[in-house]
Amino acid sequence: EVRVRFAPSPTGPLHIGGVRTALYNYLLARKLGGKMLLRIEDTDQNRFVPGAEDYIRQSLEWAGIELDESPWTATPGPHAPYRQSERKPMYMQYAQQLIDSGHAYYAFDTAEDLDAMRARLTAAKVPNPQYNSITRAQMRNSLTLPAEEVKQLLESGAQYVIRLKVPRKEEIRFNDLIRGWVVVHSSAVDDKVLMKSDGMPTYHLANIVDDHLMEITHVIRGEEWLPSAPLHVLLYRYFGWEDTMPQFAHLPLLLKPDGTGKLSKRDGDRLGFPVFPLEWHGKDAETGEPTVSSGYRESGYLPEAFINFLAFLGWNPGTTQELFTMQELIDSFSIERVSKSPARFDQNKVRWYNEQYLRAKPDAELAQYLQEALKGQGLEVPTNKAEQIAALVKERATFPADLAKEAQIFFTRPGSYDEQVISKKWNAQVAGALTEFAKQLPAATDTTPDAIKALLTQVVEGQGLKLGQVLQALRVAVTGAAAGPDLMAIMSILGTQETAQRIEGAVA
Ligand code: GLU
Repeated sequence: EVRVRFAPSPTGPLHIGGVRTALYNYLLARKLGGKMLLRIEDTDQNRFVPGAEDYIRQSLEWAGIELDESPWTATPGPHAPYRQSERKPMYMQYAQQLIDSGHAYYAFDTAEDLDAMRARLTAAKVPNPQYNSITRAQMRNSLTLPAEEVKQLLESGAQYVIRLKVPRKEEIRFNDLIRGWVVVHSSAVDDKVLMKSDGMPTYHLANIVDDHLMEITHVIRGEEWLPSAPLHVLLYRYFGWEDTMPQFAHLPLLLKPDGTGKLSKRDGDRLGFPVFPLEWHGKDAETGEPTVSSGYRESGYLPEAFINFLAFLGWNPGTTQELFTMQELIDSFSIERVSKSPARFDQNKVRWYNEQYLRAKPDAELAQYLQEALKGQGLEVPTNKAEQIAALVKERATFPADLAKEAQIFFTRPGSYDEQVISKKWNAQVAGALTEFAKQLPAATDTTPDAIKALLTQVVEGQGLKLGQVLQALRVAVTGAAAGPDLMAIMSILGTQETAQRIEGAVA
């Protein structure tokens, strides 16, 4: 059975890169009939941010990414608990196992010892100072101290960490489902801490132990974790879990819209688009002042549009189809079609998706939204009229709020008239034709857009003009603006009386 997991750390709001990771995991699980888990990786108490876990939960719910096992289900899943802080007592035995087999060791170095080591290496111009097979020989650990002293130190309650003993000369290789064979020399991996002095496991230990215990088959995560993968491969080997080691798939980076680098959590607010699914209320790191970062949901994005857009950030179906429901994404998704190269974030594309999904909604649903919004302005609009308006203005809307904005022409008479049009298209003859049209309009029995157009054409031609010569002027007379939705439809919805009065007001 395929079992995948999304393993966020509650250190702040989930940004779209995180949601994409969750989405790809979910799509694969659903496609292959497997299970999707969520595990909260909260072993780093210093980076814990209150509210972050709840934010993650709400974001996934809004996006429609469902979880089969998580800390939030009513009945605990088979591998509960799913929060690492609640699993704390489980990890020590695994660290101990590695110590016993000689693959890990106690290190008693103080912060000063470590600083001195780094300073020494930096002075010697060693590029990346590491705690590794070379430096550990000079440090205070159970591999360099006499066994008796190690025992005494442990018994006296001295502070220690447990480190992985990374071999000196070895090639570590694994097959990444997206990148193919990845080969890393062990000299590039340092003796990572597995257990911290506070008795908490580090990310590396807890992540591997939990992925193993939770029977994870595929690890799909962001490219930033690729450098950790060789270390994880070593851990699987030393635990004797190589046979059930999950397959790795490291997703491509997300780049800023201009392609100049990694999309960061700050880019959204700086460049004026959301990078978070939901609005995030945080604190400024320096001043402690409350801050708000915009979210897709609050900006009026529909979850379907957001998901469709995200799916395409690094994946494509290999066809020209662009609009996919979640079910269609599930059916079409495959890891083989996830790209290695970075995906550029394009805020115009996500707007485009929103337009498509908004306009595809039934008019009745848009009308309901419109009625609500207009009620907020003190306007009671009957359902059939709201539906007509929604059907007409949706072609000009990106967000639901645009519907109400575009609908204003039906409820407020023009306060001013577009000057360009007035100066170019308005003259006595045009005004005369419009006056005549306004005179005849209220008597019309058929008030469909086509009938209004026929009447207008007849009146205008009767005055020796062509329709094209008055249309712009008429639009400005009725709405004030040079552009807008179909004019005949506007007049039909406004009604003949109101239209006639507006024209008379403009001519006067
Ligand atoms: N807790 C890690 C994170 O915050 C998980 C990385 C992984 O998926 O292994 O992204």
